[in-house]
Amino acid sequence: VDQRAVRRANLGVVLEHVADSGPVSRATIAAGTGLNKTTVSSLVAELIEMRLLAETGDDERPGNVGRPAQTVRLSGNGVVSLGLEINIDYLATCATDLTGQVRHEHAVAVDNRNSQPGRVMGRLATLARRALADVEAQGLSLAGVTIAAPGLVDVASGTVVVAPDLGWRDVPLADLAAKRLAIRDVPLRVDNEANLGALAELWTGAGRGLSDFVYVSAEVGVGAGVVMGGQLYRGAFGFAGELGHLTVDPDGPRCTCGNRGCLAMLVGEDALLEIAGIEGPTEGSARLAATTLADRIRGGDTRTEDALRQIGEWLGLGLAGVVNVLNPEAIILGGYLGALVEWLEQPLTTALSERVLASNWAPCRILPSQIGEQAAVHGAAALPLREVISDPSSIRMHA
Ligand SMILES: [Zn+2]
Repeated sequence: VDQRAVRRANLGVVLEHVADSGPVSRATIAAGTGLNKTTVSSLVAELIEMRLLAETGDDERPGNVGRPAQTVRLSGNGVVSLGLEINIDYLATCATDLTGQVRHEHAVAVDNRNSQPGRVMGRLATLARRALADVEAQGLSLAGVTIAAPGLVDVASGTVVVAPDLGWRDVPLADLAAKRLAIRDVPLRVDNEANLGALAELWTGAGRGLSDFVYVSAEVGVGAGVVMGGQLYRGAFGFAGELGHLTVDPDGPRCTCGNRGCLAMLVGEDALLEIAGIEGPTEGSARLAATTLADRIRGGDTRTEDALRQIGEWLGLGLAGVVNVLNPEAIILGGYLGALVEWLEQPLTTALSERVLASNWAPCRILPSQIGEQAAVHGAAALPLREVISDPSSIRMHA
């Protein structure tokens, strides 16, 4: 047996145990993992030295008679990872530490439609450098970077295969980012924004404790992240979840993908702008339309309410197909849809109860996102840290 490989695996076992159970004593870790106490003490000492664990100094069960057991918890003062997001009308950055605390966060409205990838990456790199300088000043070391992008992403090569709303095709985003950011020795990845949003909801949001759900991301485009059996479902080639391009009206408006009546055309930004009577699209206009609609309905505008119900019906038609196939416990509405859930819930529930065969026996809940518009960039920031927790030694190789 390779002793070093065993120790490496055990470091992950201990760190995962602490991550799952919160502050715990060494004895409790030993009992929970089946490792002996001496080994646990040595592993904990190494994890403290790596600044991944810290002593809490708290008694595990306050009020207990006798010598208090020293507990350890995840350390927020060691590593941080950076999430970056390119979306159609904004760029965002977020850095989180191992405890899940956000240590830096920023977003700017930028119109990235039909943009030059190099220019977009240049602007994103400026924001990223600011974030890195900030976390470095806080004494944290970088464990990894993930970029969230809309469209089809080949995760293995870090390429945006196609992003119709950006007007991008075969953009080697990971390579562009590596050059611009001069980041070496830490993992730098690219992933689909809806997938990362779904992971963020699974880890810290509305999807916590759920095993099977569909996260609907609605920014300018509409996408979905599918979680099945507690894992992100990517599909055979990694392109699952393109909810926005589900055909719901074959005679409907032309989509950026070339087809007609895609769901994104009927429930996406264009549809919202039209009923809100807002000129666009411009940067931030999708969100402006959503808040305008919400304000009007609250003010008693029944025509707007009817128009939004129509959007809910289209969305329900699309989601009923998804629910019939996947049988999820919940649909989580993200992006601007989360802000409109109050008025979308009823038409959605009606559509699902009418069109989903199993609806009487397996009702699917409609939940608003708990993280909101930052879901994708939060998921992007959390992803490298999940890897650190399962394999703490991986950060040594980058150090
Ligand atoms: Zn389409």
